[in-house]
Parts: sequence; structure tokens; C-alpha cells
Amino acid sequence: MNSVYIGLGSNLSKPQKQLNNALQSLSALPSSQLIQCSHFYISQPMGPKDQPDYVNAVALIETKLQPLDLLKCTQEIELLQGRERKENRWGPRTLDLDILLYGNQQITLPNLVIPHYGLKKREFVLYPLFEIAQELTLPCGEKLSKLVDLCPKNGLRAIELK
Ligand code: ATP
Ligand code: MG
Ligand code: MG
Repeated sequence: MNSVYIGLGSNLSKPQKQLNNALQSLSALPSSQLIQCSHFYISQPMGPKDQPDYVNAVALIETKLQPLDLLKCTQEIELLQGRERKENRWGPRTLDLDILLYGNQQITLPNLVIPHYGLKKREFVLYPLFEIAQELTLPCGEKLSKLVDLCPKNGLRAIELK
């Protein structure tokens, strides 16, 4: 089994519901188990500012799926939940699933780069990841706690549980 961290994000069509649906789908992946998920967080949009705030979270799964098979599955889940890929990068979306870390592997393929290239500088990835993996060290040897310390929160806040 491989420990894989997945970043979830949505800012359209009831984002919290989108994340809950995605977690349901992740828990149903073949040869996989959903182990844990962070709180949901509200974050400021990257790129174009004329779009709603995002809801983000990070989930941990254990899986026997190989990285490219897992990518295929996460992209299927995105499409199932109405993800449309438009020209403008970082535009609004119903669901984004990014594979942040796959065990301790470093992967550079045309369609898959792991660790995810935004991991080290995105507050909406680092803080939820740190919530569920405080002792984590990245494949490059950097401690997650150090990256979190260096990363401004940019208004990021956990959604209160009701
Ligand atoms: P960003 O990548 O900056 O977070 P995004 O998530 O909106 O932006 P997408 O449209 O979801 O970008 O993905 C663009 C491409 O990124 C996908 O087609 C996929 O092949 C590729 N990709 C590369 N590495 C990863 C990864 N670790 N997880 C998910 N997709 C990846
Ligand atoms: Mg993304
Ligand atoms: Mg993506």
C-alpha cells in the first residue's frame, strides 16, 4: 500500500457538497482506503479574483493503484462532478483533485508531476496537509512544518463544524 495525499478544491455549485461527494468517491476507489481528511478550509482564489472563494481540504488515502491509474481515477471523479476545463487557468471549478504526494516518490511525467508543483507555496494545501501530517518530511528532505512556518495564511480559515 502507498500513502497518498490528495488536495481537494471547489468554488462552484455548493463547494462543501462537492468535497463531500469527492471524499465518497475516493473512499470507493478500487484497492484503496480513505484514511483521513482535514477540516474544510475557506481560501482566497489564486489567479482571477472575480470568482468565489474556494473550499479546500487534504485527504490521505492508502492505495495499491499506480500513480497514473490513480490520476485517471481522480480525473474521472472531477468529470463526474461536472469539471469543465476552460482556457483560463485557475478559473472557477466544481472540483479539483490534485495528487500532492505519492509515498516518498518523485515523479516527472508529461501529465503527472509529484510532489505537486504548488505544494510548497500554497497555503490552502500546506495548512490542511499539516493538520493531518504534522511530522511529514517531503521527498526532497524538507520538513512540512518548516514550509508551513514560512507560508502566510492569506486569510485561510477552517470552516467551523456545526
Ligand atoms: P494547478 O495544477 O496549478 O493546481 P489545476 O489543478 O487547475 O491547476 P488542472 O486543470 O486540474 O490544473 O490540471 C492540469 C493538468 O495537470 C492535468 O491534466 C494533469 O495531467 C496535470 N498534473 C500534473 N501533475 C499533477 C498532479 N500531481 N495531480 C493532478 N494533476 C496533475
Ligand atoms: Mg489544482
Ligand atoms: Mg488539478
